[in-house]
Amino acid sequence: MAFGQSGGRGGFGGGRGGRGGGGGGGRGGAAWGGRGGSRGGGFAGRGGVAKRGAPGGWGGGRGAPRGRGARGGGRGGRGGARGGSNVLLEPHRHPGVFIAKGKDSMLVTKNIVPGESVYGEKRISIDGGVEGTKIEYRVWNPFRSKLAAGILGGMDHIYIEPGKKVLYLGAASGTSVSHVADIVGPEGVVYAVEFSARSGRDLIGMAKKRTNVVPIVEDARTPQKYRMLVSTVDVVFADIAQPDQARIVGLNAEYFLKNGGHAVISIKASCVDSTIEPEVVFAQEVNTLREVKFKPLEQVTLEPYERDHAMVSAVYQRHK
Ligand code: SAM
Repeated sequence: MAFGQSGGRGGFGGGRGGRGGGGGGGRGGAAWGGRGGSRGGGFAGRGGVAKRGAPGGWGGGRGAPRGRGARGGGRGGRGGARGGSNVLLEPHRHPGVFIAKGKDSMLVTKNIVPGESVYGEKRISIDGGVEGTKIEYRVWNPFRSKLAAGILGGMDHIYIEPGKKVLYLGAASGTSVSHVADIVGPEGVVYAVEFSARSGRDLIGMAKKRTNVVPIVEDARTPQKYRMLVSTVDVVFADIAQPDQARIVGLNAEYFLKNGGHAVISIKASCVDSTIEPEVVFAQEVNTLREVKFKPLEQVTLEPYERDHAMVSAVYQRHK
């Protein structure tokens, strides 16, 4: 919900335990299992397994198998789950994001590299409309991606759309980055920054096939080191779980974000200050965003997928 409005879903001041509206089939329209559970045959929770009877065994909490083309792909064979006539594909209100509606509803993105999974996620092939053609989608697990959790938590806008240029800070191995690459598609670019060499190796491996991803193994605190690699971007997305994240976003915005562009950041309260209430931390981070020329727009909590996390969006006012 927008800043300045009171009460309601995960809005400004939305406190701990505030619940995202999309979690149980709300505005996000998808039915997902809760933390540690598997309500409705959707996703298993963190480290869990898919509930028996989930269509094609579509599970995939944090305990799901990793690696390209991991096993466990239900009826569609290795890594895949057949969509066929049982699954209806609907566009989500966020362009480039879709909902696969079968026995359950799942958030999916259109696979930019058909036939390839990135981290063992399930793939669904849907009839392409023309005889013999198929379109492949990848299931996007909100327990493994803050951005997916934010979408299901009811973010009105994520600003990451087909054709956009995105600077992604805190790319890790590229799990969520790969879905962002699907969303922006071949006309868009994802500059993915990660400072861990180990995660960076996986990220680089992923980007070999997803050629709209530019992997950058650097510290996001030193944007001058990668300024030659990054063009002006439409969106800065940040999930770096650092106490000075908002300042790091401001620094990167100065270098790369267009005036009127947007930041979308995931805030993990305990990473900023574990001694105060999460909502106080969120408010502090929002204030820091204001100090670095952002006007906050929206805030949702990431419950039930992540505890004491918020996602905040803001618009950049470079000349303010
Ligand atoms: N966004 C990822 C995803 O959904 O797949 C998960 C990101 S994880 C919460 C945070 C990541 O940020 C870690 O991989 C960590 O190494 C990275 N990170 C933390 N501080 C960083 C910094 N200053 N520069 C670049 N990466 C950083």
